Amino acid sequence: MDIKYKRILLKLSGESLMGEKQYGIDEKRLNEYAEQIKEIAGLGIEIGIVIGGGNIFRGLSGAAKGFDRVKGDQMGMLATVINSLALSSALDSLGQKAHVFTATNMFPIGEHYSKWKAIDAMKRGEIAIISGGTGNPYFTTDTGSALRGIEIEADVMLKGTRVDGIYTADPEKDKTAVKFDKISYDEIYTRGLKVMDLTATTLCKENRLPIIVFDMDTNGNLKKVLTGENIGTLVY
Ligand code: UDP
Repeated sequence: MDIKYKRILLKLSGESLMGEKQYGIDEKRLNEYAEQIKEIAGLGIEIGIVIGGGNIFRGLSGAAKGFDRVKGDQMGMLATVINSLALSSALDSLGQKAHVFTATNMFPIGEHYSKWKAIDAMKRGEIAIISGGTGNPYFTTDTGSALRGIEIEADVMLKGTRVDGIYTADPEKDKTAVKFDKISYDEIYTRGLKVMDLTATTLCKENRLPIIVFDMDTNGNLKKVLTGENIGTLVY
């Protein structure tokens, strides 16, 4: 089997962990993700993961309700730690070792992140789940995953979503929307596409980290992306 990438950074949104629920974590969805991740770990791929926190708390929505923005963002970052612990637990119960890192020191909940410790863990065959975003307010986990992807020298950042790629318009709202097989970073700016926030896109562009946006909610898709099947959209 031809495997295209040796080391990847997988970004999962917090919202995708909700499954059919309105809030929090859906155990069924969590286990499906863990199964897919275990499957690709079995191919010998080194895996770093960043998970969002939007299923629990977002600083911006908190600020709209009167929370201090910085405290709200800190709550959001803590939410990513909760999600990361949940995923590591699901992986553990499948017999797949995972190691949770945190952007700020919160030992013993996780190990304080450093690039080298994360790479060591991946080389031992453990999944490095890098939580807590960037550790700073006013950023998103898309930016956190771009940053961690670059730091750990990933070959690609995989953005698992519920949509099967990048479209000319939101396919859930506009039936005439057309999917791209690939698209340049610059075209994302010029077309004003909301793939990721601009800080994340710029970080990837400046450091030449390709991104693949794909539908992670269809079982087996994660493996298909890595074995070079033409699914999702490549940003280059
Ligand atoms: N967040 C932050 N700094 C970071 C990453 C995340 O302040 O570096 C906060 C921010 O409030 C954000 C929340 O954590 O809204 C959850 O992350 P995000 O919205 O990216 O999660 P997702 O949309 O992927 O579920």
